[in-house]
Amino acid sequence: LVSRKKKPEDTIVDLKGEKIGDGSQRLVAGPCSVESYEQVYEVAKFMKSQGIRLLRGGAFKPRTSPYDFQGLGKEGLEILRRVADELDMVVISEIVSPQDVEMSLDYLDVIQVGARNSQNFELLKEVGGVDKPVLMKRGMSSTIDELIKGAEYILAKGNENIILCERGIRTYEKATRNTLDISAVPILKKETHLPVMVDVTHSTGRRDLLEPTARAAFAIGADAVMAEVHPDPAVALSDSAQQMDLAQFESFLDSLRASGLYK
Ligand code: PEP
Ligand code: MN
Repeated sequence: LVSRKKKPEDTIVDLKGEKIGDGSQRLVAGPCSVESYEQVYEVAKFMKSQGIRLLRGGAFKPRTSPYDFQGLGKEGLEILRRVADELDMVVISEIVSPQDVEMSLDYLDVIQVGARNSQNFELLKEVGGVDKPVLMKRGMSSTIDELIKGAEYILAKGNENIILCERGIRTYEKATRNTLDISAVPILKKETHLPVMVDVTHSTGRRDLLEPTARAAFAIGADAVMAEVHPDPAVALSDSAQQMDLAQFESFLDSLRASGLYK
């Protein structure tokens, strides 16, 4: 069902007027984790001033270590919703458990399926059965075909509003956190009719690579780019090494706009 052969025309996912897949370039930004109302509001307010309405933030955090910050859970979703309603923004957040999908519908505009849950088929079936757009990330060690089949699980249950996300895969290369498979973008655009996003933060894991990688993503045909932004990354409860502060985010946007690849 996700195949271009089945449906030749592009699927456009409309997020409260922010269209993904219509040939424009979109940015999704926000903190790695929701930490407080003030933290989210500060980032969202700045995004809004830059004309960016797609707000991300993790509430249920899939952390490698059980001793790391696990996220605020439902309280995090409440914070995101409150900020988004105040500033007229669109909320994207990860749900890790099939049991939480129904509850999340009241708070989210987009349900994110994270890399670690890319082949959690019960979760895929659950998000496939609800009327809410899904951001489907590639698993850390998934092939492109496995990502496509994951999206097929969602579409097979009736949900057509899917955005695919390349976020880097695990390789032997240690210079970056993951290896961004940039060619996945045109392959996914060719093989499927779904819009494609590139997560420059979790792929590179390096603040200094976010802007050039975002340019590469748009140049190769990505519909959207995701990047993490935090008011003070040094004290962030997760991903402190790769989130941009507001000044860095502003220069990231200036360079991207100057490149002509992002309008
Ligand atoms: C995230 O976007 O918050 C995240 C945890 O990313 P990934 O699932 O790609 O690691
Ligand atoms: Mn993160």
